[in-house]
Amino acid sequence: MPHTSGVTDMTQNKIDLLRAATEISVRYIEQDRTARLSVGDSELAALDGFGTIDADNPIAPAAALAMIDHLGSPATMRQSSGRYFGFVNGGVTPIGLAASVIAGAWDQNAALPIMSPAATAIDAAAADLIVDVLALPHESVASFCGGATIANITGIVTGRDHVLQQAGWDVHTKGLAGSPPLAVVLSEEAHVSVLKTLRVAGIGSDAVHRVPADSFGRLDATQMPTLDGPALVILQAGNVNTGHSDPFRAIIESLTPQQRAQTWVHVDGAFGLWANATPNRRQHVDGVDLADSWATDAHKWLNAPYDCGVVVCRHPAALRHSMAMNAAYVETNDDTRSLMNLGLQMSQAARAVPVWAILASEGRVGVADAIERTCLAAERFAATLVDAGVELLTPVVLNQALMAFGDDATTDAVIAAVQADGTCWVGGTTWQGRRAMRISVSDIGTTFDDVDVAAAAILKSRS
Ligand SMILES: *Cc1c(COP(=O)(O)O)cnc(C)c1O
Repeated sequence: MPHTSGVTDMTQNKIDLLRAATEISVRYIEQDRTARLSVGDSELAALDGFGTIDADNPIAPAAALAMIDHLGSPATMRQSSGRYFGFVNGGVTPIGLAASVIAGAWDQNAALPIMSPAATAIDAAAADLIVDVLALPHESVASFCGGATIANITGIVTGRDHVLQQAGWDVHTKGLAGSPPLAVVLSEEAHVSVLKTLRVAGIGSDAVHRVPADSFGRLDATQMPTLDGPALVILQAGNVNTGHSDPFRAIIESLTPQQRAQTWVHVDGAFGLWANATPNRRQHVDGVDLADSWATDAHKWLNAPYDCGVVVCRHPAALRHSMAMNAAYVETNDDTRSLMNLGLQMSQAARAVPVWAILASEGRVGVADAIERTCLAAERFAATLVDAGVELLTPVVLNQALMAFGDDATTDAVIAAVQADGTCWVGGTTWQGRRAMRISVSDIGTTFDDVDVAAAAILKSRS
């Protein structure tokens, strides 16, 4: 019999604090559309308050919540304001946030089905929906992790093990020293997370063939090396600056059947893979479904709460082979969806709960519309600035626009002025030798009005 002799102190504390946290959160969200997107000097200075608590003088839990609110809230970046265009940071959808609150209350460990039947069932359903909505091969398996960096590690290590296994070399027993040569090919425009992945995977940069990219940041397929033996080809959907993608079909279909059989193609599609979720943008990632594994994020373009990456693999047995761990006390078997055998982590949050809620309530059409809307918003943003004489550095194909305001110093000065003004937030980057303003429309709550207000603020900052 469960213990039912009344609510324990601990439970009552949890309820009281959750109510307080909800009130704070609601008050915070009420300011989402009006707050400035800049953190002033006094708000920055106030953050030192967090460091004034010492371990021998703890404060009450309610006081800790109040400090988080009073000191922390004013120094956040409002990613859900509709006017935040930094990095590829999305807002959070209402349903995603709400579902994550329940998942937090559940506090489930999603490592094993026996630990949480609910988390496991939701995870399996969300994984199937992801594969379906992203229009990836139906035999693929998806699993959730901390972000696209972790998903890249997962996919690339799986590919490394698989192609070397096929060449008669078992990495798990022999390691990498003395293995058959493994060709590793990627664009010079590959994301930094892929370079870190290769380090983690024991593949040094001297062993990597970097293929030149064109002026849009796409791997130049005519400069691909001839593959002969086990190979890892790592391609990109959505360059983090330009939004352009590598020519998947040309690269993958140019391989002979024998080369293809010895090659694992992994796609880093942290945000760009979502272009495949809408018929209007799919042509920009044509052939992406021909790969073997994919990394993407739910916390970027799907606007799920942080953190949530996704790895998708069309060879479930290979993923399990590389990621499985076995111990008597966990008693897993291959038929069950044990997340600890489908990714790097053992204990893990039930990250799929908000993802499932978003996908279940948006559906295929809702996701496609959200992706398309942000792309149209980026196009409108760029067009407004171009009309006012600002230079667009690469054509807008997805949600990214790269703008220059003359020489590098002027561009940097405009970016700094926009950040200080706080009407919107944009970051800077260096694109093929030139400083540029990066505009990323990744919050699906961004309206055309938001774009117009932000563009006007940017143009005002120019003078
Ligand atoms: C954001 C991004 C990553 C890294 O994703 P995280 O979720 O931050 O780990 C990798 N590749 C590309 C192209 C990205 O845009």
